[in-house]
Amino acid sequence: MAAQAEPVGVATGTGGAAATDGAAPPGPRDAPGAANVVLGGVGKTFRRAGRRTVALAGVDLEVRAGELVCLLGPSGCGKSTLLRIVAGALAYDQGAVTVGGRPVSGPAPDRGILFQSPMLFSWLTTRKNVLFGLKAQRSRGIHERDDPELDAEADAILATVGLSQFGDAFPHELSGGMQHRAAFARAMVTRPSLLLMDEPFGALDAFTRLRMHEFLLSMWEQYRITIIFVTHDLEEAVLLGDRVAVMGGRPPGIREVIDVPLGRPRHALDVDTEQFLAVKRSIRQALTTDRGA
Ligand code: ADP
Ligand code: MG
Repeated sequence: MAAQAEPVGVATGTGGAAATDGAAPPGPRDAPGAANVVLGGVGKTFRRAGRRTVALAGVDLEVRAGELVCLLGPSGCGKSTLLRIVAGALAYDQGAVTVGGRPVSGPAPDRGILFQSPMLFSWLTTRKNVLFGLKAQRSRGIHERDDPELDAEADAILATVGLSQFGDAFPHELSGGMQHRAAFARAMVTRPSLLLMDEPFGALDAFTRLRMHEFLLSMWEQYRITIIFVTHDLEEAVLLGDRVAVMGGRPPGIREVIDVPLGRPRHALDVDTEQFLAVKRSIRQALTTDRGA
């Protein structure tokens, strides 16, 4: 069974000061390690057994370095397709995509990706899971045993995500939230400049989800990377995003990009405020407006 004792807080490190700063206005972030993302006229049509599915057409989007943008829309509107294209995991057939000014032509270590399932290796401890990608990247085939530098990095990131006590635990000994923290640590240990998240908290219970939102926001403050976060949950999109790209329509694409004019840091309790509800209403309107579909 999953462990019950999940640590409440996470270490905030040096960047934590930003999270206690009160009313930091939304705007350009000081994010030297973050990449911008530019999509121009991106289209993708799947062809299978003589059938064509236009999954995306004419997608234009610019995500600033250090920004957190949510892609919101109903199931089947092309959210995962778009994310996989930016990840370099799926070829597109129209338009152009750049990350940090470089055209995307395949997967690269400067882009991390997280899914609904944490996808930890069940036979490896948390520490070994976290170090897996980093070891592969650094050793490049050279046989490598205990590396003190890697161990120090593992210690640091496990502390950052609040899992210091669980480095030697196996995935089945971790709660759902802890598994997601471990997956986050594994994605971040290679220091990507862009993190792509595909409905990462969709399978978690409501309370764990709430804590993961707080966790993600505090990590984002700390690492200051660019995040593209896919969700079909309106409230989640407003709570997390600097902007929300509303997807849908026919052919499927981005219908509208809406600013979320709420201050930072944000907290789960903010969802009941009048300002929050007003943003939610405007996004719901964008989602439901029929554009000649
Ligand atoms: P979302 O993530 O918003 O639910 P997807 O991006 O997964 O949507 O899918 C968009 C559309 O593309 C859907 O109609 C889906 O059936 C289709 N699609 C996705 N992947 C494939 C594939 N590998 N082959 C054929 N069709 C696909
Ligand atoms: Mg999807």
